[in-house]
Amino acid sequence: MSDSNFIILCQPDEEKSCGACCGLYNYVDSSRSSLERRLRSRTKRFQKLVKNPDDVEIYAKETLADEDFAKRYEVIYCCEYLGFLDNEEKKVGCLLHLEQNSGLDLRSCSFYGQELCAGHFCPSHHFIPQSQSQILIKIIDDWYLYGLVLTDIDLVTTYFRLLADRLGGELKPEVFDNVSLKNIVLEYFDWKLTWPFRSQETNRLGKYYFDGSQYMISYIDYAKFGREVSPLNAIILSLSSSFINAGEIEAAEKLIWANIENFIPTYRLNFY
Ligand code: SF4
Ligand code: SF4
Repeated sequence: MSDSNFIILCQPDEEKSCGACCGLYNYVDSSRSSLERRLRSRTKRFQKLVKNPDDVEIYAKETLADEDFAKRYEVIYCCEYLGFLDNEEKKVGCLLHLEQNSGLDLRSCSFYGQELCAGHFCPSHHFIPQSQSQILIKIIDDWYLYGLVLTDIDLVTTYFRLLADRLGGELKPEVFDNVSLKNIVLEYFDWKLTWPFRSQETNRLGKYYFDGSQYMISYIDYAKFGREVSPLNAIILSLSSSFINAGEIEAAEKLIWANIENFIPTYRLNFY
């Protein structure tokens, strides 16, 4: 990368990491507990079986035989080499990476191959401003939430734009040394897991998902409920919302506005 300030978001620190582009959230059951079990057993299997490069094949065979690889989106590959990188299970990442294998990069065995895996920087690297990605790194210490939020560009940029519009400037990462402000913003990003209007039927993950070549986009028919398109539509879609009546749309908007309105006076109290 030519920009020396370019932040690589995949493995930012010891508290979390992201594995979204390796298919982490693309299993039909991508719940936290299911992914934890999957990643845990892969790491154990890899540590037990892979003593030299030839053993990777045995690992792959056993993993493919052991797991259910039913996918949410067929076009996104679910890589069998994604596991936990640390004993505390805080970091997800590539079991074939050289740092896991005494300096030997084994990714040539993988579906994408070494070059693609090593050279891939997802759109979040380009479309989430660095100050915003630094805020995410600062406040989120949970691999499951981190990957979901980080890869949802609309969820992140729309929110920080709404806050910046009200405050008259972009938020700086240092602001989030303040625990109250951190908690308000975390309440918002936690909705990625707890949003009450999340569609149960489709179990979607956000408005779209980048699969390497295209975006799949969901849609809310506001006209059906006699409403204009919500000014919060980008966020509402990112939270995988579905509504059964206009009252639910109003309630969803109120929750988001309340979070934003809660942030502003707390910020002013501390920084004006
Ligand atoms: S989705 Fe983006 S941030 Fe996450 S591991 Fe892939 S390239 Fe890195
Ligand atoms: S081989 Fe490539 S796709 Fe698979 S986990 Fe490693 S980096 Fe991800």
